[in-house]
Amino acid sequence: MLNRKLVAMLTVAAMASVFAACGDDSTATTAAGTTQASGDELVIGVSWNNYNEERWAKWDEPDMKAAIEAGGGRYISTDAGSSAEQQIADVENLISQGADALIILAQDGTAILPAVTSALEQGIPVIAYDRLIENPGALYITFDNVEVGRMQARAIYALVPEGNYVFIKGNSTDANADFLRGGQQEILQAALDSGAIHNVGEMYTDNWDPAVAQTNMEQILTQNNNLVDAVVASNDGTAGGVVTALAAQGLAGIVPVSGQDGDAAALNRVALGTQTVSVWKDARELGKKAGEAAIALAKGTALASLPGTVMFTSPGGNQMVSYLLTPIPITADNLQVVIDAGWIDTATLCQGVAAGTVAVCG
Ligand code: BGC
Repeated sequence: MLNRKLVAMLTVAAMASVFAACGDDSTATTAAGTTQASGDELVIGVSWNNYNEERWAKWDEPDMKAAIEAGGGRYISTDAGSSAEQQIADVENLISQGADALIILAQDGTAILPAVTSALEQGIPVIAYDRLIENPGALYITFDNVEVGRMQARAIYALVPEGNYVFIKGNSTDANADFLRGGQQEILQAALDSGAIHNVGEMYTDNWDPAVAQTNMEQILTQNNNLVDAVVASNDGTAGGVVTALAAQGLAGIVPVSGQDGDAAALNRVALGTQTVSVWKDARELGKKAGEAAIALAKGTALASLPGTVMFTSPGGNQMVSYLLTPIPITADNLQVVIDAGWIDTATLCQGVAAGTVAVCG
């Protein structure tokens, strides 16, 4: 470990001038300087993939950073802007800045594997954050994504026991997309088999992009002459795109739509009645958990010695040491939960909501 850190510091010393000359991200320059000054400090490198999505910078990052700093570590980070290639370069950059542990939100769980394997071989612990990376040497910290999918489907099925269903899935290189879809299928399988409900359209959403979800939904509506009764959308961003497409056909608020994350706009849609459910995952807790685990791993704690972990069998057959947090479905009936949690204020939640329609909005 110490040798590796020394090499990293020397590399960083060489790279510092390059970063400065390129006018690159000031974090790198500052980080390089600080690393040289205090070589014993624990550095936790975090590779984000898409700050565009509301949750990461707003909810996951602050508590992760606070937990790292509370544990005596220094937080450094990059954002790959939804590029798998950029993320590989970012991970190398974080290592060259002296990262003692890495937290990776993978854009593409397969593309990032060689970088993860290389980090682990160099003795740098890796946390697969929120999204699976199929290497059992990594710690996997996430919410129970299959359960999120079940919760989405349950909320929609309770309102639409018969009719035409559409499935707007996540990004295909994100393992969560299929975990969610699997959970949805479990709940709906019997009704699909009996013919009570029909799958009339199913599409992945490149990079979970709401604009792509909107286009996909428009296409599916056209193909079905608007005969769509329910939309199981896999997150709040894609639900937003779906609701825009439905609204253009006068179907918003008529066709139930699911989501997840507790995005402010989505919770407002739940209050307005244009979205049925947002499965809420308190990302502050996930961030904190990862920050604490990264410090423990950087200090040399073995994966198996981390307290409170469970084993997760991955689709690739790996036994992953994991933390699986529990999600909560939020509908118009329990919006008070997110207000009480300090997740959203009443004014934001209730913007535009007509008096007397939803209890929490008055
Ligand atoms: C996360 C979701 C998020 C999506 C898009 C998924 O892997 O689990 O919470 O909405 O990525 O960023």
